[in-house]
Amino acid sequence: MYESFQKYLSKELDEIKNAGLYKDERVITSPQSAAITVKGGNEVLNFCANNYLGLSDNKRLIEAAKRALDRRGFGMSSVRFICGTQDLHKELEKKIAEFFGTEDTILYAACFDANGGVFEPLLGEQDAIISDSLNHASIIDGVRLCKAQRYRYANADMAELEECLKKAQDKRFRLIVTDGVFSMDGNVAPVDRIYELAAKYNAMVMVDESHSAGVVGQTGRGVTELYNLRGKIEIITGTLGKAFGGAIGGFTTGRKEIIAMLRQRSRPYLFSNSIPPMVAAAGIEMFNMMAQTNELQERLHRNTEYFVEKMQQSGFDIKPTQSAICAVMLYDAPLSQKMAAKLLEEGIYVVGFYYPVVPKGEARIRVQLSAGHTREQLDKAVAAFVKVGRELKVI
Ligand SMILES: *Cc1c(COP(=O)(O)O)cnc(C)c1O
Repeated sequence: MYESFQKYLSKELDEIKNAGLYKDERVITSPQSAAITVKGGNEVLNFCANNYLGLSDNKRLIEAAKRALDRRGFGMSSVRFICGTQDLHKELEKKIAEFFGTEDTILYAACFDANGGVFEPLLGEQDAIISDSLNHASIIDGVRLCKAQRYRYANADMAELEECLKKAQDKRFRLIVTDGVFSMDGNVAPVDRIYELAAKYNAMVMVDESHSAGVVGQTGRGVTELYNLRGKIEIITGTLGKAFGGAIGGFTTGRKEIIAMLRQRSRPYLFSNSIPPMVAAAGIEMFNMMAQTNELQERLHRNTEYFVEKMQQSGFDIKPTQSAICAVMLYDAPLSQKMAAKLLEEGIYVVGFYYPVVPKGEARIRVQLSAGHTREQLDKAVAAFVKVGRELKVI
């Protein structure tokens, strides 16, 4: 059998390559940080990590992880409900709930699992899930695993959301689900208006805070802080793999009965391993840090404002952003690739995105800011953009 399957795969892979969509991975040979070393020895400034608070190589987190490694060992070798729960897991869940102002939290190996395991245990055929069209792949997959009727509205389009809510009025329960920040544009979901519509049409709300937690809101508590909705959203999901240290791990936090049901029925929780003790311990340390100071969030906000302002002054077309994601619009797909390659030669690591990751004719370079970037590094990035931008006649 394999011979014919191999032929089939080779042909498919060639087609991906011919379409220019084959993904190659750049190999890093240093810790993840604002400045990294890539294979071949070059040092470049990193503007494409989700390392929003610059915590990926934070000394305090590394020390906390090492202490836990010595005291609690390497792995749990179990799912949570058999013998995979340490006090560290319980404490981290409590810290996450405190951070978001929610009642309880359940940990997962990743937010992909949190989203994959949230819908099916809670909703059935008589129910409705109403989802933003730009929601993350893991939400789309999670919804697919659930028997509830699905409705979709265009990104952040509140008129379409209202239409969906009207259509779903005959359903038993309604759940609106949205990303907090959309990763390609950096826009924040209008959760204030979503919340109003949910109240008007009797629905619940779920927000995935993966790109917004630690970033959005004055103290980085996410979109519920931004819109003054702390404690009012039924379900929040998020990741420990972005702003919060960037290692691994996801969570669902919200109403305690919902979390209790997920512990009973959520399949990625019941049938997948616990996160390692060192990751839980570093997570606890991270939330302790967040409780002590908002210095990193403030630095991230200042860095983002500074970068956007300098880029706009230089003549670049920047999408309005409310997060640490800055889309430099180029519109042309080959240009986005060429520009990213030239920027890398200048020591600036960014990625160009084009269809089908973004709509046709909306190619761009996505820049992700971090609290870990110094003012000098930001200036260097802007200077490189200006140099390459002039060469390619973008500005
Ligand atoms: C990154 C991301 C995820 C996946 O998080 P992991 O913990 O890496 O699995 C889920 N949802 C959104 C919106 C994300 O941006």
